[in-house]
Amino acid sequence: MSSEIARREFFPLAMAGVVSAGAAAAQDHPDNPKVVREPPRDTSVVHECDLCVIGGSCTGVFAAVAAARLGAKVAIVELNGFFGGVATASLVNIWHSLWDLRRENKIVGGLTEEVIDRLRRVDAVTERFRPAPGKGSNHFELNTEVLKFELDHLVVEADIRPFLHTMFVCPVVEDGRMTAAIIEDKSGRRAIRARQFVDATGDADVIARMGLDVYKRQDLQPPTYTCILRDMDKIARENPGFNINRVIFDAQYEQAIREGHSWTASVPGAQGHLMLAGARVFGVDCSDADQLTQASLEGRRKVASICELLREHFLGGKGVPLAWLPAKIGVRETRHAHCLHTLTAEELLTGHRFEDAIGNGTYPIDVHRADRAGITWGHLPEDVPFYQIPFSSLVPRAAKNVLVAGRNIDADEGAFGAVRVMVNCNQMGQAAGVAAWLALDSNVPVDSLDVKKLRATLRDQGALIV
Ligand SMILES: Cc1cc2nc3c(=O)[nH]c(=O)nc-3n(C[C@H](O)[C@H](O)[C@H](O)COP(=O)(O)OP(=O)(O)OC[C@H]3O[C@@H](n4cnc5c(N)ncnc54)[C@H](O)[C@@H]3O)c2cc1C
Repeated sequence: MSSEIARREFFPLAMAGVVSAGAAAAQDHPDNPKVVREPPRDTSVVHECDLCVIGGSCTGVFAAVAAARLGAKVAIVELNGFFGGVATASLVNIWHSLWDLRRENKIVGGLTEEVIDRLRRVDAVTERFRPAPGKGSNHFELNTEVLKFELDHLVVEADIRPFLHTMFVCPVVEDGRMTAAIIEDKSGRRAIRARQFVDATGDADVIARMGLDVYKRQDLQPPTYTCILRDMDKIARENPGFNINRVIFDAQYEQAIREGHSWTASVPGAQGHLMLAGARVFGVDCSDADQLTQASLEGRRKVASICELLREHFLGGKGVPLAWLPAKIGVRETRHAHCLHTLTAEELLTGHRFEDAIGNGTYPIDVHRADRAGITWGHLPEDVPFYQIPFSSLVPRAAKNVLVAGRNIDADEGAFGAVRVMVNCNQMGQAAGVAAWLALDSNVPVDSLDVKKLRATLRDQGALIV
C-alpha cells in the first residue's frame, strides 16, 4: 500500500472522531479551543507489589534486582522492548574502571561486577588496560546486544514482573505518597500499585509528574546519535593513517559533519565493527517530545552523511559501511530531581567522604558543550584516588516513598559531568533498590532511613562500601 493511500484511509477516520472500542469520547474545553477535556475513567490494577521501578536501564534493573534479592515483590516498567537504556538502546558500550586511580583498591563491585563476570563468561566483554597495566582495568567494552540477554536473565531469575513496551504516564498520589503508577501499553491504560517507587527514567518523569521539585540546566549536555560501523579494519588497512575521529569532521569532504566530538569502541564478537559516538545534536532538550523527534531526525541525518562519506571516499563507492543504528538517540542530560543534597564538583575534586556514601567513582568531570564542539574536563588531583556518591543526592525533597537513581540525580554541572557514567548510575540503582526495601522493612519515609543499615546491606550484596 502506498503511503498516499494509507494517509487517505487514515485521516477521514480520525477526523470523523472514530475511537477505539472501550474508549470514551473526549470533549472540547469550554474556554480553551486548544485543549481537549478527557473524561474521568476507571483504570484497572494489573499488578500489586512492594516496589515498582520505572525505567529499565541497567540502573533500573539493578534497583529491581537488589530489592528482589532481599525478598521484595518487584515490578519494572520499561518503554523499550528490552532492558539496558542508553547502553542497549543507544549502543553506548563502555563501562569505566572498577578500581581507584592508583589501581591499588577495587572501589566498584556489586551488580556491576556481577554483570561484567556474566559477560566475560560468554566472551561479550573486552577489558582494556592503560599502557602500563597495573591491577585494575581502565575500562570495559561490552557487546550490548549480549547485555540485553544478561539483563533479561537477571530480571527473570529474581522473579521480577517485567512490563516491557510500556510507558509510565502518571503517578497516583495520596497524602504525598505515590500509591500507583499509571502505565500505557498494548493492552491500554493500566495501573501498578506499589508501596515504594524508584524513578530510573533518566528524565525524572515520575518526580516531575508528581509535582515534586525538578530542575533543568540552561545548557543541557547534547545528545549524540551513535552507530555501529562495519569494515573498519578493512578501511584502516587500505588507508594508512585513517582516523575516523578526524575524517568525519574534515571539511575537505562535503559529507563531513563539521562540528562535534567523537570517540569509538570495539564491539566484542563483531570483528571489524566499531561503535562510533560522533553525531552530536546541539541545543535540544530531549525531555521535550517535539525536540526529541527533531533531534532523532537530525542525528540520523548526520550518521547517514558519515556513512555516505565512508562509502564514497573509503570504500570506492561500493557497499554499506553501516552495521546497526541505535533504537534511540543517546540522551546525556535532561531533568534532575531536587534532592536532600546537591552533589558538587568541589566535593568530587576534594575527595569528600560522605557518611551516607553508596557508591564510588573515578570518571573525571566531562561536560560536553551544549551549543558547539568542545568538552570541559576536570581531573581528580593525585591525592584523590576516587570520589563518592551520597545517598542524599537520590532522595527527592518532600518525597515519602520515591527515590531517583541514574542521570536524574541531583548534582551541579561539574559533578554531573562525572557521576553520569554507567558504573556510577549502576551503583545508584543498586543502592536505590536496597533503600526502597529498607524503607518498607522499617516502615519509615525514604528521608529517614538508617544509612548505616543501608551501607551494611549494600556491602552484604557485594557492593564496595568504603
Ligand atoms: C552518546 C553518549 C555516550 C556516553 N558515553 C558513555 C560511556 O562511554 N560510558 C559510560 O559509562 N557512560 C556514557 N554515557 C552516559 C551514560 O550512558 C548515561 O548517563 C547513563 O546510561 C544513564 O543511565 P540512566 O539509567 O540514568 O538513564 P537511561 O539509560 O536513559 O535509562 C532510562 C530508561 O528509562 C526508560 N524510560 C524513560 N522514560 C520512561 C517512561 N516514561 N516510561 C517507561 N520507561 C521510561 C528509558 O527507555 C530507558 O531505558 C554516554 C551517554 C551518551 C548519550
